[in-house]
Amino acid sequence: ATPTALMVGTGRGAQLGILVRGPEALESARAVDTVVLDKTGTLTTGAMRVTDVHPAPGESADDVRRIAATLEAGSEHPIARAVAALVPAEQRGTLGDFASHSGLGVTGTVDGCAAAVGRPAFLVEHGLEMSDEVAALVAQAEDEGASAVVVGWAGRARGVLAVADTVKEGAAEAVARLRDLGLHPVLLTGDNERAAHAVAAAVGIEEVVAGVLPADKRDLVAAKQQAGHAVAMVGDGVNDAAALAQADLGIAMGTGTDVAREASDLTIVSGDVRVAADGIRLARRTLRTIR
Ligand code: ADP
Ligand code: MG
Repeated sequence: ATPTALMVGTGRGAQLGILVRGPEALESARAVDTVVLDKTGTLTTGAMRVTDVHPAPGESADDVRRIAATLEAGSEHPIARAVAALVPAEQRGTLGDFASHSGLGVTGTVDGCAAAVGRPAFLVEHGLEMSDEVAALVAQAEDEGASAVVVGWAGRARGVLAVADTVKEGAAEAVARLRDLGLHPVLLTGDNERAAHAVAAAVGIEEVVAGVLPADKRDLVAAKQQAGHAVAMVGDGVNDAAALAQADLGIAMGTGTDVAREASDLTIVSGDVRVAADGIRLARRTLRTIR
């Protein structure tokens, strides 16, 4: 690849609203035949809303909201922003020992009491007891296509928040454009199966891999590569960074996290996922010019 042709690609990228990490970033895109797309924040707006607050029997909805909002105030995850917004800052408790667990949830103390918020299995792993009643509330939220976020403190899961997201306006068109380029799309998410399939159906993707941990996202990309595919990965979150770095072409949403951008070859400044197809086409054209 001659430096001049690659510089042309970089300049054209800027016109399309794509930041190219460096001239070499485009080189690896040549053989891309598979595009793995993250769900939350990539195919969906990531502007989450808490649609329901379900306290476990004997618990108060206000306690569930207040403890969840206090803990989530420490995280930048889209779910965390929605949960924190449930309670004004001056009504939240005192947060201590905060830790964010990428793709899982958050832990800490609220007014000195150990608490956790996150996916159901994460709370169980943290030793919080999950009653059948709480498990039923989780199933109910997931049946409605929502993400079920469990809130627990003092040894038990004590409430479930149903959190909903909206599919981005251009997401179905983005998938159609990728198919037009002969690419096979795969939806990859840490969210539950039902929420994942609802979004996949809305945007026209058949292959869905749901419920994965951040490290598994990278492993899925690696497995596709081992099967002989060249993979582009499109993502926005801290939890996507390892997969973006592993991919032959990593494409970050400009609206996402710094960590995702730093791990990627291309950044779509506007966060419009349709531009991902432009990025792949640009990479192919740039290379054709120089061969
Ligand atoms: P995606 O892969 O779609 O971008 P993530 O990997 O970021 O989703 O999150 C996967 C799941 O982990 C979420 O659906 C949620 O259940 C849980 N989760 C992650 N971060 C948080 C958080 N800060 N608060 C609550 N739940 C979280
Ligand atoms: Mg995401």
